[in-house]
Amino acid sequence: SLEQTAEELRAQREENDRLAHEEPITGLPNRLCLYEAFAKKASCENARFSIAIFAPDNLAEILASYGSVLSDAIMRILAQRLNALFPENNACYSMTGTDLVLLLTMPLEEERMREEYLLAQKVVQQPVNVEGIEYYISVSCGVACYPKDGTDREELIMKANLALYQAKRTSEPFVFFSEQISQKLHNRLLIRNAMPKALAHKEFELFFQPQIHSFQDRVTGFEALLRWHSEELGEVSPRDFIGVAEESRMILSIGAWVLMEACATLRKINDRYQTQYYVAVNVSSVQLYSDDFVDRVLAVLTKTGVEPCLLELEVTESVLINRERRAIEKLNTLHQHGVRIALDDFGTGYSSLSILKDLKINTLKIDKMFIQDPNAGVFTKMIVRLGHTLGAEIVAEGVETEEQMRSIRRSGCDRVQGFFKGLPMPLDPLMRYLSARD
Ligand code: C2E
Ligand code: CA
Ligand code: CA
Repeated sequence: SLEQTAEELRAQREENDRLAHEEPITGLPNRLCLYEAFAKKASCENARFSIAIFAPDNLAEILASYGSVLSDAIMRILAQRLNALFPENNACYSMTGTDLVLLLTMPLEEERMREEYLLAQKVVQQPVNVEGIEYYISVSCGVACYPKDGTDREELIMKANLALYQAKRTSEPFVFFSEQISQKLHNRLLIRNAMPKALAHKEFELFFQPQIHSFQDRVTGFEALLRWHSEELGEVSPRDFIGVAEESRMILSIGAWVLMEACATLRKINDRYQTQYYVAVNVSSVQLYSDDFVDRVLAVLTKTGVEPCLLELEVTESVLINRERRAIEKLNTLHQHGVRIALDDFGTGYSSLSILKDLKINTLKIDKMFIQDPNAGVFTKMIVRLGHTLGAEIVAEGVETEEQMRSIRRSGCDRVQGFFKGLPMPLDPLMRYLSARD
């Protein structure tokens, strides 16, 4: 009948309307609605509000191992939780179905807002039960504020996304946008883009910092420290580019260059002075994952004619944190070939003792944090005792003053390295340094 058709039409129109405004995976109002709500809020006088983007950290993993039916179901549950927490109209949205957006008016001070977000995060993060199986989801959150961080819609969403990215990267639960973060991420991007040319354009250089025998006051060897004179970016500190090089796996080719360059230079120095100095080379855990690492190191030694016992590889405790057994086996194999192994930054990581159980080491480097803290003497002594019990030599890092030097001697460290005895320097100044001490 006519009446029925009208009824059907209305239902159809409502359904279309719903589809136009609903994000299909989460069932939340979609991007369009978010835009409308944004415009409405922004048009108010003295408008102040925040836009927070929540995203599960391990959704890609769930999607990959279980498929989209499950990952969609999980997103819908998270969306319902967030929605239930903010029942007032126009708070929760989803732009893509993998994100949850919270639009909150804020007469609130920042401290209250933090609490609000933490609560939201806590609720959203409760384990999700789908068909009797519990899934554990962690959720990161990035926040940008109107008008403080911007008044343009896309700009604000972008900034919230940037904060979200930072939250994921650092595993901080939630991050407020700041220019500082933006600058940091931007710098990383610049570094990432400039790095591929660096090797070919010979922008890298090795500096060498002397290590000195604590009691006999003679040079025993050097640590090779990488320097990057970037044509585009100027001097870039290894603290800023090593992490990026690890992420992009460019550390593999850079590390190979460092190893070759360090050994070739050592050979030059030892030939010239008729000495037996050693060189210590920093090795990233990413290098230890590659299958040919052992062969590569041995090949460099053969090629440069450096005896294995004059090469010391410095690794940090992170080789064990990743539970990569094979990385430790590789180091132990090299140790069997006579290559020296040093544990760097000792005392700052998580697993100091358990790594010493598995990894064969020749040297323990006490982090400068201990050396430079006048109250840490007791810890230094403890680490020295521990190292000596394991048959390792102890190197004190970051020795900057006479006072620190004295306390190092008292605690029994075998070698020292630091600005007090010698800066990291290029080859020529190093040669002059060695000649002057002769
Ligand atoms: P690290 O291995 O702990 O190196 C020691 C750092 O302390 C160096 O910083 C050195 O310049 C600095 N230092 C030396 N003496 C003193 C001192 O008396 N006081 C203070 N405050 N600092 C001192 P640098 O050269 O900036 O290197 C930073 C980090 O970058 C290194 O820390 C190392 O983890 C990494 N790195 C450097 N070169 C390489 C490399 O060739 N490969 C890899 N994978 N990492 C490298
Ligand atoms: Ca080192
Ligand atoms: Ca160190």
